[in-house]
Amino acid sequence: MNFKQQLAVVEGLGVPPDTQIRMDCPFCQNKNTFTVTTTSNSIGWYCFHASCSAKGKKNGEKTMEYVNVSFKKEDIKLQEEFKLPDSFKIVHSNDKALQYLHENNCWEACMWGRADIKYDVKQDRVVFLVENPNTNKYAGAIGRGLNSKVYPKWYMYGNKDIPFKCGECKDAVIVEDCASACAVSNILTGIAIMGTSLKESHKKYLEPYETLYVALDRDATRKSYIIASELTSAGFKNVKVKVLHEYDLKYYGTPEIEKMFYGGKDE
Ligand SMILES: [Zn+2]
Repeated sequence: MNFKQQLAVVEGLGVPPDTQIRMDCPFCQNKNTFTVTTTSNSIGWYCFHASCSAKGKKNGEKTMEYVNVSFKKEDIKLQEEFKLPDSFKIVHSNDKALQYLHENNCWEACMWGRADIKYDVKQDRVVFLVENPNTNKYAGAIGRGLNSKVYPKWYMYGNKDIPFKCGECKDAVIVEDCASACAVSNILTGIAIMGTSLKESHKKYLEPYETLYVALDRDATRKSYIIASELTSAGFKNVKVKVLHEYDLKYYGTPEIEKMFYGGKDE
């Protein structure tokens, strides 16, 4: 099937905007191998089955209709509880998952219960559960693929509007991924925005902190400054960029993190 034919089938599924869902593939009919991801103005699809080539993405114009629908949807979505799939197992059940946690300084956060981490046996991912701070219920999860064939590398289950948070410290640091948020969590509250840009929906989760650092991965320092200025314009008075000179935060242990943020002179 060519792109146009696939697009017609996928659009026919009626997936609402700002959604990521998994389902049986309409092309190869395999069970639960098909994902559709939509934003307010794009639709993308992908089948994980090795024998299936269904894949594509279409960006469209942002229509008012779509904008209205997605705004109304947001409130409803935020209240929804994410039910953990049966494929989420305890993280100790998989050696690669444990190795990932050790190599990326997440082990301590997991052991101390600062992060709720599982292993998804179906997708071969180490999974960080995202809690809704308003309801204290699970809102979604973020999974990191554990082998190179798992696509995409990071996958978001359920709600995507609430950032992953780890730790309960007075200062917070905005980081790119869950592993970095865990790595800092003994010293600072780590908040992972899953990428290098801040969503409007993230801002309300950034309010309760004394100092808000922005420390994206080393190759995204320019983006850190963009986020800091966005936050400052949005009324945050406590924002600082932390430039990482050598490695991403997930490669540092607790003593190094402490020294980096509180041990030396400010950037
Ligand atoms: Zn398929």
